[in-house]
Order: sequence, then structure tokens, then C-alpha cells
Amino acid sequence: MPTCQHCHRQWTRWQTYKSMGKFKRKVICPYCGKHNYIAFKTYQRSSWIGLVILIMEVIMIPFHVPSVYQFWALFIVLAIGFMLLPAYYELTSEEDGPS
Ligand SMILES: [Zn+2]
Repeated sequence: MPTCQHCHRQWTRWQTYKSMGKFKRKVICPYCGKHNYIAFKTYQRSSWIGLVILIMEVIMIPFHVPSVYQFWALFIVLAIGFMLLPAYYELTSEEDGPS
């Protein structure tokens, strides 16, 4: 779970999902109210979900896997990614990564 870089308190899973849902790089700590930034490393780590989906499609399409199975495979990967994402979520006190 992410830890605030100012007050060093760990966010709950729900607080992490709530900040992820805003789709902003700059997030506010629910405890101290100061700004944190989602670490560039978090975006790099979460990109595996897209890669897994791409690989699955490359494998399933030539084998004519029925679309209902493709849908459920996609759903399962997204659900696992959604559950694991707070564990990879890191915060920084300043914006990092390529600009
Ligand atoms: Zn804080």
C-alpha cells in the first residue's frame, strides 16, 4: 500500500482505489492533506496488464477462441490487475519520470 511522503502514514486499499479513480498524477493525502505524486515506477509496473492482454489476444485470435472465453480471460486479467495494483502503487513528494 502507498505511504504518504509527508506524514508517512500508510493509505488503506480503499483510499488507494479512490485516488486511482481520479486519473491524476497529483494526489492528496487523506491524512495530512498534502500533495503527493504517483511514482513513475507505478505506471511502469502497471503496464504489464496491457502486455498480458496483448499476448493473450495474439494467442487466442489465430486459434479462433470463442469470444465469450476471450471476454472472461480479459475480465479475469483485469480483476487480478485491479486487486494487485495497490500493492505496486508508490508515491513521491515530487513529480518524477520523463516529462
Ligand atoms: Zn500525509
